Amino acid sequence: MKRNLVLSFLAIAAAALVLNAQAGSGGGITSSAPQNVRPPRFLRLYVFDCGTLHNSDAGRYRFKKEELATTEMSVACFLIAHPKGTLVWDTGAVPDNAWTPTGIPMTQHIVLPDSQQRDITVVKSLKGQLSELGYSPSDITYLVLSHYHYDHTANANEFAGAAWLVRQVEREAMFAKQPPGTTQPSTYSALRNSKTIILGTDEHDVFGDGTVVIKSAPGHTPGHQVLYLKLAKTGGVVLSGDLYHYPEERRLDRVPTFDFNEEQTRASRVMIEAFLKKTGAQLWIQHDFIGNAKLKKAPNFYE
Ligand SMILES: [Zn+2]
Repeated sequence: MKRNLVLSFLAIAAAALVLNAQAGSGGGITSSAPQNVRPPRFLRLYVFDCGTLHNSDAGRYRFKKEELATTEMSVACFLIAHPKGTLVWDTGAVPDNAWTPTGIPMTQHIVLPDSQQRDITVVKSLKGQLSELGYSPSDITYLVLSHYHYDHTANANEFAGAAWLVRQVEREAMFAKQPPGTTQPSTYSALRNSKTIILGTDEHDVFGDGTVVIKSAPGHTPGHQVLYLKLAKTGGVVLSGDLYHYPEERRLDRVPTFDFNEEQTRASRVMIEAFLKKTGAQLWIQHDFIGNAKLKKAPNFYE
């Protein structure tokens, strides 16, 4: 009798878990009332499709075209949902307000302030992908950019209401009289007045439980950083920022021609590789077109 009671209790508990899981993924259907999105019980990582960058110049990365499996680059944005808050990591290459999604891939031509030009194909807006999960930009607790290049900041202004976690050197460069080439200052200008938390340590544990940790990895830009996530089922994942772009950089030890400080990039790579070895975490190279294609995209998630 007692055993039966325990069993039926377990059955109810299991049913509750199933319901909870359905509410979790099904929650993606609601597009309004984002305050109704309940914080998840466990850390979640959502991968958004922020486009495909057509890189026509492998030489900038010190490659010959034939050394690369593909010159195409994925542009990834991420939402981290923690029981205590949310964090957006990188915001894409094309501002949502520059185009209207139709469901058909659209190629946007971007001219940077230093006259360099890029073509990026996008299908979904970042805001649209957030909204599919029931979130709006005003629900986001923290904004973190791996670095200031235009293909990571496009929608930063949307998150000006979040607390911005940034290194002093990076922020200073972004708001310098003459910001670095390949930045698009108009896309992040609103961050000037954001609540800003300057990161002064090599590691910053965002929620205080070791599951979401920003790690300094300078070189590509002065305050470049990567994000370590400790997921209950998936295990450790490091989001690369632009520590690498092509996976071949990792094998063949190539550093882009346009890094702020190549020696720093090499030192950061050595440090992160040691961290990956120590923790057993996977490295997700954000611009790795082939690797990114294999990732589950929102509304699915990693936990
Ligand atoms: Zn990039």
